[in-house]
Amino acid sequence: MDQYRVFGNPIKQSRSPLIHQSFALATEQVLNYEIQFAELNGFNEAVTEFIAQGGKGANVTAPFKEQAMAMCDELTEHAKFSGAVNTLTFKNGKIYGDTTDGVGLVNDLLAHNVCLENSRILLLGAGGASKGVVLPLLNKAPKSLTIANRTVSKAQAIVEQYTNEPLSACSFEEANEQVFDVIINATSAGLTGAGLPIAEKLITENSVCYDMTYGKELTPFLKKATELKAKQVIDGLGMLVGQAAESFYIWRGIRPNVDSVIAKLKSSLFYRYKF
Ligand code: NDP
Repeated sequence: MDQYRVFGNPIKQSRSPLIHQSFALATEQVLNYEIQFAELNGFNEAVTEFIAQGGKGANVTAPFKEQAMAMCDELTEHAKFSGAVNTLTFKNGKIYGDTTDGVGLVNDLLAHNVCLENSRILLLGAGGASKGVVLPLLNKAPKSLTIANRTVSKAQAIVEQYTNEPLSACSFEEANEQVFDVIINATSAGLTGAGLPIAEKLITENSVCYDMTYGKELTPFLKKATELKAKQVIDGLGMLVGQAAESFYIWRGIRPNVDSVIAKLKSSLFYRYKF
């Protein structure tokens, strides 16, 4: 049976095995997908061992996405731009790397009928998740894409990779003085519940607020957005399932339906997980 893994540290909380087994069942694919913990200095070794055992592919989560990229023999253009890899494919003695987070996010936004074309988009955060979604968002022809980050130099570094795009970097304070249609939280502040330094005036009745984080209850960002009567609040569960669907497609050549799996996770009492 074809073997797949998700490598991370920590990893016990991952819902990826449930998601991929559900995809496999729905598409009649015979495969096994399991979590695999790797020591912080043992990622390369763990992946190499898995390949030696005949592993076909792997997902990679925090904190190994950059290390995964360094291991690859070949990368997609998108992975090169992102500087991170979440999907590895092992074929003909080579390691192929791609990143599917951005496709997962954009597909989820479109599934919620969020208009990206000609929109003013604010992306909060400039970590791995942010890097991975910039190109797919730009491909949807927004009016502008602004990356605000606590450490502004990191947002600037992302912007410098692109030319001739409506892309800019700023501080949270500067973002607070502008107007946006879609606000996407890609910081890890949502995980800890720590408040984001965003002004209340940033969120209006015309705002679509998306949080890459998800949980049983609304994240602090989405709670605030709801209180401020944002037009739409969406959590990152659909992105999680969407990026998994894209990995599944890379490996198996079949694009599974995501809706039933999102519903399954939503109905679970314990879906407070991080991919
Ligand atoms: P990183 O650690 O790479 O980046 C974290 C980002 O959050 C940085 O920009 C950091 O700013 C910022 N940040 C952290 N704490 C605060 C704070 N208190 N106030 C303001 N900014 C803060 O994480 P990732 O980019 O990999 O992940 C970000 C989030 O996205 C996580 O919650 C992750 O679970 C989620 N995610 C969800 C996915 C999904 O499928 N739904 C897929 C991938 C990620 P600074 O640079 O200044 O430190």
